Amino acid sequence: MKPTNRPAPAPEHTAEAPPRSTVLRLTGVTLHLGHDRQRVTALDHVDLAVARGEFVAVTGPSGSGKSSLLAVAGGLQTPGDGSVHVADVDLTALKEHRRTAHRRRHIGYVFQQANLFASLTAREQLLLTAHVAGRLTAEVRRRADELLEAVGMTARADRRPDQLSGGERQRVGIARALVLAPEVLLVDEPTSALDRARARDIVDLLAEQTRTHRTATVMVTHDHEILDAADRVLNLRDGRLS
Ligand code: ADP
Ligand code: MG
Repeated sequence: MKPTNRPAPAPEHTAEAPPRSTVLRLTGVTLHLGHDRQRVTALDHVDLAVARGEFVAVTGPSGSGKSSLLAVAGGLQTPGDGSVHVADVDLTALKEHRRTAHRRRHIGYVFQQANLFASLTAREQLLLTAHVAGRLTAEVRRRADELLEAVGMTARADRRPDQLSGGERQRVGIARALVLAPEVLLVDEPTSALDRARARDIVDLLAEQTRTHRTATVMVTHDHEILDAADRVLNLRDGRLS
């Protein structure tokens, strides 16, 4: 019998609910930090799967392992046990330089205090990220300007961090995290330095960007007032996720 042509795979975007594919998967992740008597179990057999377009919030008190969870999910820290799959590649199995390359390609990271370079303008923060990754193309420049627009920073794109408010800096941090079109977006306590109104703006912006760019987004926070923006809320306590 002659081989027949297979039907083309279904397009990702359809009128119906889009198919959900897991792009971030932590399996049995355990992380110990410190040594000897100071040794703590920051993450204890953590399992987590996040699909494209999904916005997951993880709550937990200070010291519960929230930043550790993001550091491991983002390949910044290698767990003692377990695996971390990002876009079907196990980060824990990669050598340092390959892990860095994979991270730059697939993961966007929003830090607690935005972590912007003091001497660079808002636009330059985005362009530098692309430059470091060797991807400062005309297309990425366009995307940078689109993102600055999306986060409401076009009019302030030429300002340095000291000329911006905390909320504006956080907006730039979010735009920067998205500039290389990552599938995974990791966000560490984005509202901790903001007043209520700004906190609401930022979390709504994260939800909107998650939908627009179909990122698998994990936001860790101890701010319970912003949890309604998430599709799913998990709790972390002493390194255990439930
Ligand atoms: P959270 O972000 O929820 O506040 P972390 O992930 O920062 O929690 O920390 C989890 C636990 O690991 C805490 O008990 C913290 O004190 C400990 N810890 C964090 N970093 C280190 C480190 N470099 N060495 C030793 N212990 C650490
Ligand atoms: Mg933390």
